[in-house]
Amino acid sequence: MTSRRIVSNALHSAALCIGLFVATRPVAAEAPPDTSLTREVLGDGIYLFRAPSALDLWTATNVVVIVNDQDVTVFDSNTRARTARMVIAEIRKITPKPVRTLINSHWHQDHWSGNDEYVKAFPGIQIVATTKTRDYMKHMGSLYFADGLNAQVARQRAALDTAVRTGKQSDGTPLTADARQKLQKDIDETAAFATEVANVKRVLPTIAYNDSLVLWSGGREFRLISVTGDATGSTVLYLPAEKILVMGDALVTQEEGNGPPPWTTNSYSITPWLNSLRGLERLDATIVVPGQGPAFHDKAYLELTGDLFESIITQVHAALERGLVTLTEVQAAVNVDSIGRRYAPNAPQPDPRFKALVSALVRKVHQESLDGVSKP
Ligand SMILES: [Zn+2]
Repeated sequence: MTSRRIVSNALHSAALCIGLFVATRPVAAEAPPDTSLTREVLGDGIYLFRAPSALDLWTATNVVVIVNDQDVTVFDSNTRARTARMVIAEIRKITPKPVRTLINSHWHQDHWSGNDEYVKAFPGIQIVATTKTRDYMKHMGSLYFADGLNAQVARQRAALDTAVRTGKQSDGTPLTADARQKLQKDIDETAAFATEVANVKRVLPTIAYNDSLVLWSGGREFRLISVTGDATGSTVLYLPAEKILVMGDALVTQEEGNGPPPWTTNSYSITPWLNSLRGLERLDATIVVPGQGPAFHDKAYLELTGDLFESIITQVHAALERGLVTLTEVQAAVNVDSIGRRYAPNAPQPDPRFKALVSALVRKVHQESLDGVSKP
């Protein structure tokens, strides 16, 4: 994580799948961030392109490219048009075949901001998503997504004003000329990104499905399954012959590929999310691609996340049935430390990232157990 990442808790709370707020943290000297794509080969003609958050700015959204007999299928289109153009350039290096199908995994804009780039590059392309995803994309205008970034700019400006007034950064270290310049640069970048997000051309899916959809291209079978992930009506892609499961944000990990999931969801829908994870565990898959981070070559992380959700749901229900009422009481009654150690056995415990995740999960399960009307 670097201070160049433009991310926002405000957007996170708007249910976008984004990282952690760091933009106002004290500035220290640092190397320029890596903004190149990473390519992983998942199978014959199947590639995972990973964009670092220093490039994609909201999240390091994964894109999977599948080269078929006659054409190419792509899963998700990045946070930025610029990143999508980089992926398209990589596709052109791999094959002259056109991209004919683009899948949008869910409505969070960091997964479909490049739609217009694909339409321009590959006329006639079909864009596939669930009906729910398409409806949400249609209902949530660009300002819905830019709003959180604009709020972040205001917070960054306030922090800089305070630092200028006191001569100190938020951690008490002196505000040097370099640090001031860097903080100003962060503000400018966030503001520019907010403008970019507000101006993303909203290109909607052209094919919408409800529960599942099977597509074929040449000899390759694509099974699209509607699930609950960090958004309802999310699509996961399963390639049965290749045993590859592309999860989008139905499964998320840290950008560097270890540690607990970095976010949950704004809605209180952990139980259906768990049901989706348990259903997907039963598929015969040897490669599992999360929404960001490297591909997994087994189902351990998928199963671990299911174990975490299930343990929290079970413990919250038990606490409520014992007569506990408030969120504070229920939070104190839940203990999933042993699962936390499984996420990052070598990290110092307790992992603060895990603690924050558990707190959010318990709050959401508490809400959904009480029909959305929980008491603090
Ligand atoms: Zn998401």
